[in-house]
Order: sequence, then C-alpha cells, then structure tokens
Amino acid sequence: MKRLLLGAAVIALTTACATAPASTPTAELAPAEMAPAEMAPAETKPAAEAGDGKYPTPEGLVLSAPDTWGDWGVDLTAFNTDIRPGNDFNTYANGTWIETIEIPADRSRYGNFDLLREKSEQRVRLIIEDLAKESPALDTPEGKIGAFYAAYLDLDAINAAGLEPAKPYFEQIDAISSIEDVSRLTAKVGFASPISGFVFVDDKDPETYIFQMSLSGLGLPDRDYYLKDDEKSVEQRAKYVELLTTLLGKAGYADPAAAAADVMAFETALAKTHWDRTLSRNPEITYNKLSREEFYAMAGPFPAAVALDTLGVGTQEHFLVAQVPPAPEELAEAGISAEEATKLGGGFPAMFELASETPLDTWKAYLKAHFLIDHSDVLPDEIDREVFAFYGTTLRGQPQQRERWKRAVSATEGVMGEAIGKVFVERYFPPENKAAMDELVANLRKAMAVNLEELTWMSDTTKVKAEEKLDSFNPKIGYPEKFETYDTLVVTSSALDNAMAAAKWAMEDNLSDLGTEVDKTKWFMTPQTVNAYYNPAFNEIVFPAAILQPPFFNLSADPAVNYGAIGGVIGHEMGHGFDDQGAKYAPSGALSNWWTPEDQAAFRELGDALVAQYNTYCPLDDGETCVNGRLGLGENIGDLGGLSMAYRAYQLSLDTDGDGVVSESEQAPVIDGFTGDQRFFLGWAQIWRSLHRDEALRQQLQTGPHSPPQYRINGVVRNLDEWYAAFDVKEGDALYLPPEQRVRIW
Ligand SMILES: [Zn+2]
Repeated sequence: MKRLLLGAAVIALTTACATAPASTPTAELAPAEMAPAEMAPAETKPAAEAGDGKYPTPEGLVLSAPDTWGDWGVDLTAFNTDIRPGNDFNTYANGTWIETIEIPADRSRYGNFDLLREKSEQRVRLIIEDLAKESPALDTPEGKIGAFYAAYLDLDAINAAGLEPAKPYFEQIDAISSIEDVSRLTAKVGFASPISGFVFVDDKDPETYIFQMSLSGLGLPDRDYYLKDDEKSVEQRAKYVELLTTLLGKAGYADPAAAAADVMAFETALAKTHWDRTLSRNPEITYNKLSREEFYAMAGPFPAAVALDTLGVGTQEHFLVAQVPPAPEELAEAGISAEEATKLGGGFPAMFELASETPLDTWKAYLKAHFLIDHSDVLPDEIDREVFAFYGTTLRGQPQQRERWKRAVSATEGVMGEAIGKVFVERYFPPENKAAMDELVANLRKAMAVNLEELTWMSDTTKVKAEEKLDSFNPKIGYPEKFETYDTLVVTSSALDNAMAAAKWAMEDNLSDLGTEVDKTKWFMTPQTVNAYYNPAFNEIVFPAAILQPPFFNLSADPAVNYGAIGGVIGHEMGHGFDDQGAKYAPSGALSNWWTPEDQAAFRELGDALVAQYNTYCPLDDGETCVNGRLGLGENIGDLGGLSMAYRAYQLSLDTDGDGVVSESEQAPVIDGFTGDQRFFLGWAQIWRSLHRDEALRQQLQTGPHSPPQYRINGVVRNLDEWYAAFDVKEGDALYLPPEQRVRIW
C-alpha cells in the first residue's frame, strides 16, 4: 500500500497519480511535476555559493528573469505592450517572456514556481553535501542523509548490480500461491496495490485518527486514460503496453507481450471500478465509515483481513473507505445527477470481486511490472530510460531526464525532508520574513471579514458561521515547531534497499499515529517546498519557507505588488476554506453542514456560473480539449476569492486613518506610469507566468484540478470590477464580461 498524504516523508513514487480522498490536505497551490524520477549523465556540476543570505542563481539554468524583479517588484522586460491588457492580460504582462523563453529540455513546464524549485534544489544539494562532509556516523540524521544521497548518486554501482538487488523482492512475488498471498504482499509497502491506505483524522471527528482507504493501483494517471477512445488516448495506451512488454521481458518472461496484455486487461477492469476524478472531490460521497465486519463483508471472497493484519490495523473497529457505491438519496443530497453518477465505477466491492477473480499469474506479472516502474530511478539505466520515455516523454512531452544529482536531491528530501528543512530555514529563512507574513495574514483576515459582511447573496445566519470559521483559521508560516529525526530509519549502500526502507519507515511512522492524540503541529510539506496548502481537517493555511521569496514575497517590492502576489496566495489558501468542498467543513475541521439550504443553493449557483466560464477555455486540439471547470472549481474559487480578498486588504492598508475611504492623500503613488491598482494586478499576473509543453498541458487538463496559468490570470481578473477600472477595459475587449456575468463569490 502506498501512503497518500502530502507528506514530510512520502515515498518517492510518482508514476500513478492516484486520487486522494477529500479529507487529505491536497489543496496545493500548484502541482509538483508528476513525471517519475528522471535520468541524466552521472557527472555532477559544482554547486553555487552557499550561505550568503541572498538567492544564488542556480547554475546551468535558462533563467526566465533576473533575480531582482524590476525596481519595484515587477519585471517590466517581460511585458508585451503591443497587447491591450483587456484583450489578454497574461500576454500583456508576460508576453515577451513567453516568446523568448525556452523550456529547459529536462522540464515539461517552466515558470516562476519551477524557477524557485530549482533554487531550492541547489540549496538542498549544498546542505546535503555539507552535512555529509564530516563523514558522520550512519545512525545520525546527517549520516543517513549523506549515505542515502551517495547510494542514489552512484549510478555505476546501480548499473553493475543489474537486477540483482530486485531479486529478493521478485522472489516474494514468485512465492505467491494463493489469493491470501496476494492480499499479504499487496499490503506491503514498495509493492503495487489496488488500495491506498493511510492514517489521517476522521473527517467527521477531527480529534481522532482513523485508517482510511481509497482505490489505487493504476499505471496510467487516471481511469479516463483507460476508458476514453479518442486517438490520443488509444496511442498512449499502446505505448503503455509496449512499456509493460519491455519491462516484463527484462523480468525474464518468455512471452512478455502476452503477460503485458493480461496486465493491461486487469488494469482496465480495475480502472472501471475507480471513480471519476471530479466526483471524487466530493466528501459527501467519499466519506464512508465502515465497521470492520462491514468492510470484510464488502470484500466478499477477497481475504481483506490478511491485508489489514499485515499492516497491523486488523484490530481497528472502524475504517474510512472512499469508494463505496452511494445510495440514490446520498447522491441527491450531494447534488449529483443520475447522469453524472454513471461516472462512478463499482468501487471497493467491484474491485474486491475483480481481485479475487484475477489469475495469480496475472497478479505476478502486474506486481513485477509495477515494481520495476515504481523503483526505476534506483534500478539500472536500461529500465530507467524506458520508464522515463513513457512517463516523461510520451505523457508529458519532456525530451530529457533531469541530471542525476537533481533526482538524488529530490529522492533524499522525499525521504528525510524535515532533517534537511531544519538546516534550510536556518540558512535561508530570515526571521523578518515570518513577521512580515504574520502581518499580511492578519490583514487578509480583516479583508475577508469585511468582504463577508458585504456579501449580498448570503444570509446573516450563515454569515455568523462563516465568520466563526474565518476566526478559527490557523496560519502556519515557514517551518514546523519540531522537526522529524528519523531515528528508526536504516540506510545502507543499496539504493533500492534504501527506497524500500524509506517507504516502510514512512508507513510505520504514519501508522503509529493510530490511537494517539491528533497532532495539529504536523506539517504536510517541508519548508524547502515551493508551494502552500489548506488542510480542511485542521482548518489551517500553510506557507513553507521556500515560497516566501521573490517574486511571490518580496520585502523590497512595492506593497501593491506584494498584495497582488503573496497576498493573492494567502487569499487563495483561505479561499479553499470556503470553496465548493472546503465550505462543507465547520470551524472545528469536522465535515458538517453549517449552511442554510437557501444560502447553499445560492453558493452552488455562483459556482456553476464559474464552472461554465472555465469550461469555455480550450487551449488544445483547435479548441477541442478544454478545462474541466467542475474539477477545477475549488482552485478557481480559491483564485477568485483570494485575489478579491487581497485587493480589499491592499485598500485597507492604504486607508491609514481607518475611515473606510482611501482619500486623495492616501492614494498610492504612480510609479513608472503604473497606479497602485495596476501594480497590484501585475503582481498577480507575474507569479503565474509559466509555459507548458503540449503533452504536459494535456495531462494537466485531464487530471487537474489547477487551471493552466493563462486562466489563473485572465480567468480571474475578468471577474473583478477593479481590474476593469485599473486598465480601462471596455466592451469589445476580448476579456470583457458584462457586469452581470462577472462572478464574485467572496
Ligand atoms: Zn489551491
């Protein structure tokens, strides 16, 4: 089983992008690259200078912009002033950059998130090398980090060993002689499984941990990849079967094509039991609390008890199970039509039936192929290259693997990220950043409170509850109070054994939460991560240190720019607490309805209008392939609400005498010809500057939920009256929406 939480210690497997249940804090600002670990020449480059307190320019990068962001926080050289802002605000603010930038060959998309991630990567490498310098003992965190990194980096040793290190694991697969054996082995970490399991708080009782399960086990990113019959999907499936054939050949199969066909048939049947990604966001249908007896009854002929006992959770009284077919009245309550419901596969009962009927030989081929895919980054080149060719190039359009040291950095911090993060914040996170962020967050809260008061579509009864939720937001900034020390993790000189040990450690660490008091100081991202999240169960917004850098957060920028950039980001995360799903959680973090039926209906109607807007954005295949507005609704509400909160906060900051009006003398100055309001919106447009390769864009559209960057810019601003005023946008401009069609939710 895999652990699905966005974790400080997740397993470094990224081949299958499983749908996380709504209870987990998955509301990221932007997805990390989902391509599996990538390959490159083993030679490493000298690292940049460390510890100078500045942001060193990473070496060997095509930089999208200078390190300083203009004189007041915005890079004016990126503009294309031939374009009217009202026709295409993204191209106006970022057009020259878009035209001149080349996506590096080892990337499937490139933008400011990626630029900062490169910087984090450089810094983490320096930290790892510094920690390893003194040859610390293997039982210290420093020693473990150094040894893990060194083993991963040693491609010669990995190639020389061939598939020998995989042998003990293949022997366990070969030893399968019953369905009980299947249940036991698929419950072990490091092996593929149709079930993902992990411990997290109970959505309806957020003071208690519970073991939760959801469907998993697909090699392609999503059920749709197996079921759609357009040309692209058919082609991708054919290439996937080729990959399975190649890998099973290397695993010693005499007729690998036949075995690959069996695996594909099994995965296709498994995909049919999965649920549509959009509907899976809905906690009202994914929250299913079953007693142990109910769960075993649902498993029918499949010996599920063997799996749970293997994990040590077989004595638990209750479990949360995501995909249980909902009754008609549950669907009605969740606002899901009968037509939409046809996209809900058979769920756990159907999966258990399939698992029981599948021949043991098919299971073995499936487990071997996935073992090679999942661990390809620590297996010989010949395996790694094949896996990258499919997951990197075919699915994401990325021509080249990343250099080995970069992958080694990712793998090491995927395993011991908090130990690295402790040093990272000491070196790179000045205390004044935290103080400035505290103030910004406080201002955003005030702004949201004022916005709430003025809402015309919401009744006072529901407003009281919304204010209560706003008051109970817990912001976390920079880094956790305590860092993980990885005491029981054992690291050796075998890269594969290390990956398996790390996965096991992470699972055991997660399982050890069961029965303990819920620890709300925990973080689900490391400080060196360039991202942010909202966690509904803790009602918290979390900003790791690494995102608090220019151009997102820039202490030397004009305030308007900071409000449009990091202010919009803070607002986005707060907005998740009030998005189509987040709004179902009460201030306590419990999934429970605090809305009046009328307000809920009005809220749904506003959401539907936003869905309809985003559904018209079709960037691929001559307008045939579009954004899925329903899948992206939470993110788009976050963006829209976030930017309107940030705008309000900016206005409040200008109103220095607090009389509720920004008077003539309080107006922001005009700088380089730009008003304060213009600089605010430019700050937002700048942070989302980004380019995707077509294939990466295709995967993003299909698996979402974040809208492609041009719509995070254009799709949001065109709903805000203040943007029209700032840039004199008029009827006839391409982005113009008549006032009655502009959506304002928060
Ligand atoms: Zn988000």
